[in-house]
Amino acid sequence: MIPDSIRLILVEDDEDDMVLTTQLLRDIGMTRFDVKWVSDYHAALEELSANRHDVCLADYRLGEHNGVDLAKEAIAHGCRVPIILLTGQGDHEIDLAAMNAGAADFLNKGQITSSMLERSIRYAIQHRRMEEQRIGFLREQSARAEAEAANRAKDQFLAILSHELRTPLTAVLMSASALELEKSVPAKSRELVQIIKRNAELEARLIDDLLDVTRIARGKLEIRREIVDLHSQIQDAVHLSCGAEIAAKGIRVQVKLQAQEYHVWGDAARLQQVLWNLIRNAVKFTPEGGEIEVTTSNHVSRPLGQVDSLGPGQNAQTILVEVRDTGIGIEPEALPRIFNAFEQVDRNITRQFGGLGLGLAIGRKLVQMHGGQISAQSAGRNQGSTFSIELPVTVNIAGVGHTDHPTDSAIAHASKDVSILLVEDHPDTARAMSKILRKRGYHVHSAPSMAQALHIADTTEFDLLISDIGLPDGSGLELMRALRSKRPVRGIALSGFGMEEDVSRSRAAGFTEHLTKPVDIKHLEDAIARVTQPAQSDESRTPDSAIST
Ligand code: ADP
Repeated sequence: MIPDSIRLILVEDDEDDMVLTTQLLRDIGMTRFDVKWVSDYHAALEELSANRHDVCLADYRLGEHNGVDLAKEAIAHGCRVPIILLTGQGDHEIDLAAMNAGAADFLNKGQITSSMLERSIRYAIQHRRMEEQRIGFLREQSARAEAEAANRAKDQFLAILSHELRTPLTAVLMSASALELEKSVPAKSRELVQIIKRNAELEARLIDDLLDVTRIARGKLEIRREIVDLHSQIQDAVHLSCGAEIAAKGIRVQVKLQAQEYHVWGDAARLQQVLWNLIRNAVKFTPEGGEIEVTTSNHVSRPLGQVDSLGPGQNAQTILVEVRDTGIGIEPEALPRIFNAFEQVDRNITRQFGGLGLGLAIGRKLVQMHGGQISAQSAGRNQGSTFSIELPVTVNIAGVGHTDHPTDSAIAHASKDVSILLVEDHPDTARAMSKILRKRGYHVHSAPSMAQALHIADTTEFDLLISDIGLPDGSGLELMRALRSKRPVRGIALSGFGMEEDVSRSRAAGFTEHLTKPVDIKHLEDAIARVTQPAQSDESRTPDSAIST
């Protein structure tokens, strides 16, 4: 839209011509012109560079200068005002020079009528507006592309960073686990080993949180579905995951599991992660001698977040899990923010307690993905806090108890005859892993490279390949493909990269399991048991992960 009132700058060193042009403008009638007359070349240049006007009419002849120079110089000074040059009759060279200099139009001074002038002005203004919109759009587009590229680079960086951080952590965890099994280690040193292990695990969880936040940001967080016993998960989180900290702080914990329906159609590992974070926070933010109460109860479903798929026997009831503590509490104004990523209520608290401020943000997303909701209440600082999760329950028609893990005896039985080809180029990790696997009764052949692994495979029988993905002379994926081209091979991939694409690549190459470093011995053993179990007895195995032998 062209404004009703047009701010026009008239550059003309001849006063009579100025009066004539002003009269023509007045004759246009419908449009009001707010005209600024400038007779001096330099003053005109200054006005034009200030971009205060909608359009400029400039005479070609301006004393020792001319209108073409003015257009050129003004544009070089950042002028965005469209300039229409008033030239002499039949002066085609000047007309051409005017257009080349960036003038919006030229008009023959001797023949101008008010309607010609109006048309030229309106066209020049409209054209400039469209040009500016186009430039704005292009700028926006390139800014968006830049931001997207920066985001991709950040994701890539986070993936590489987590890989680099995970690799040495695997060696630490495996060595600590090996030491734990070493009978000659005295009890005092055993305690230190446990500290090393606990802290390495904590570090690994921080890395996982960073990756989860990246997944959430990219909409790539996925959950599996199975029947999960929430009561067992709460017991595990309180006694197994947080038991040592609870005992160390002398906190009294009461677990009142009153819900009659406590099975949820969801992702066992992810729900465990949410519960563990709430209980760990309660322990972390409650001083010594404090109290924590974890309760469950059933309620009739009210409209919750969307449930994307109804599981077996899914009904209208919900289970409410409440974690109440007598700790430092949360100021009312901070409450709405604590579920935002990287949000920590108070710098002093962060300094004192540590943490990245990601757990609750991830927890909220996970609970929402399960069709539930999470909330926090606190009466204020030092008044304690209550965190609540409400999830739809499912009827346990399959009679599932606690998430199935192979028992120790099953592992012991399975390990007897299992021969493993372990391919790992990180010497400390390879040494610690071999030691620990051998201690558990497996036969282990270790290779630091793809070439050596292929050599061993040609000369030795083995039941299972456990391979790092990044090898000095190739990749674990290539190795798996090469081995499977000769005979069926079962495999577990180990990688510092745990994004969905990495897992899919491992699966496509023929690995049944993809474990992200640092690998905990318990997880590794569970995976070995799953992979080496006869396929028909493993009901939980998905078709794409089943192996044909
Ligand atoms: P972090 O790993 O930093 O604890 P979370 O996302 O789990 O990250 O928690 C975010 C913030 O919410 C914490 O830094 C803390 O300020 C507050 N918070 C969480 N749980 C509690 C609690 N039980 N009592 C008091 N404050 C809490």
